[in-house]
This record gives sequence, structure tokens and C-alpha cells, in this order.
Amino acid sequence: MKFERLAEELNSRTRALEVLLVKNGLKRSARIATGNEKRFSALIEELGLYAEFSDYKVRMEFSGMYSTKGTLVGKEEAGHSFAYVALKKEDARLAKQLDAEQNIAGLGMTLGYPECCIEFFLKHREEELKNRNDYVLPSIENSKKGKHPFHLNIFARYFDFALISHAPHSLECSESMRIAKDSMNLLFKENPVLAMTYQKVMTGAGIYGPDFVLLLPQAKTETQNGKIIIVYDRVFCSPGNHHAGAVMRESNAALIERENGKTAIKVADKKIDVLAVEEFG
Ligand SMILES: [Zn+2]
Repeated sequence: MKFERLAEELNSRTRALEVLLVKNGLKRSARIATGNEKRFSALIEELGLYAEFSDYKVRMEFSGMYSTKGTLVGKEEAGHSFAYVALKKEDARLAKQLDAEQNIAGLGMTLGYPECCIEFFLKHREEELKNRNDYVLPSIENSKKGKHPFHLNIFARYFDFALISHAPHSLECSESMRIAKDSMNLLFKENPVLAMTYQKVMTGAGIYGPDFVLLLPQAKTETQNGKIIIVYDRVFCSPGNHHAGAVMRESNAALIERENGKTAIKVADKKIDVLAVEEFG
């Protein structure tokens, strides 16, 4: 099955990539949200894989293509259920069971997430559940200053460009890099043009605002007279805050101001407060 068709059927490139990782034995199992179990089953069967479905559903809150929050509801209600996909039936069952038992660490292991990132997830879970539940800020906190590898661009996932499906404990996590590189190699084999697009889109900068995410593919920062300028030509903006995206699109360069531990982006006389500006190369 072509990658494009799989992505279309699953309504997400990220989900398609996860399924492919499982199919190629690079990941023991995957947990994937689906709104149509019947159709999903047929697709998974066609791929020669097994799927089990959760006995509960989740009503998800979306931020663009990417959802990090949801409310548990009964199976008869409207919402998404989870499919546990694996090469072996017992692995699909195990993932379902661990999830039902709310054994987060066990489930994370069987989904192939790195131990360091599972530990990180558990450590920050309580505070993240109260906030955006995307683990972006604690991940940045654990990261080195300066450019991070594009493979772990956690802002691109808001626009369905992602090489890993878990929250990395840092933007330099070597175990996450290993998975991301497997994903990239797989994507290159499936569709080299798309793989190049991933690399292009994920290289650049991500801007994390209080209620929005911006992705600036191929953006670069430079210092002019002691001021930091970010130069870009495309702006991806998460839905729900068109203001930040619209302001950024008025120009192709913005000033990054860092003062008293606070960061802001300035375009002409318009100032946008942000929480983080991270570069990926
Ligand atoms: Zn890690």
C-alpha cells in the first residue's frame, strides 16, 4: 500500500508512519486513534497486521491536526477509540491490556518509547494535564541552548509533520533520535519527495505562544547591531489564533526580544508575547 493512501485513510501522515514502523518491525506496537473501527480493521488486515480496540472512547480536543487532550467517554458515545496495532496478535492485546490498567510505563515500553522519555512523561504528567498536555515547555527546559536536530522538531507535529509520536524528554534525546531516523529512512524508501518535504518543513524555527504554535520552515536567525532578527518566508499557524500568524505574515523578518526572562516577537510596531523560540537544523 502506498504511503499516501495509508495517510489519507488514517487522516494523518503521522499515524501512517507509526503503522509503517510497526509493519517493518521497528516498533513493537502503536496506539492510534480512530473514528471508524470497521474501516480501520479492514485497512490493518490489508497490511497484514493485527489490531485490538479500546473498550472506551475519547472525545478529543484538537489544535489543528494534533490532539493532546481528550475526555474519556463510553463506547456508545461519539468519539474516537484507540486501536492497538502490532505484527503479533499478543502484542496488540498486551498494549490494550496495559492501557486499560492505566499502566503508563508498561504501555510506553510496549509502544517502543524510550525509557528516558517515559520517565519524563510520568514526572511532568500532573502539571501537563492541567495545562496543554503537550510537554513542550519541560522538553525545552531539558534541552541544550541553540539549534536542535530537525528530527525532533516538536512544533511541526501540530501540522502533521512528525518523526516520533511521543514527547521527547529533551530536543537532543538520543533514543528519540534513533526512532526519528528510522522513521526518516522509512519515509525515504516510501516517498523520497515527501521525505525531503519533511526535512525542509522541520528545519527552521518553532515559536510557542501562550495559545498558538507557529512553524517557520527554513527560518534563520541572525544578529544585526546586537539585535536578534529571525528571517523567514513561510508561516504555519495553528488554528484558533490567527492574529500571531497574520502579524508574522506581514513581513519576512521579525525582531526577537529577550528581556527579564521574557521573550517577544516584534514585527514593525506589533509585539507578540511568546514562551519560546527554538531553532532546528
Ligand atoms: Zn528521552
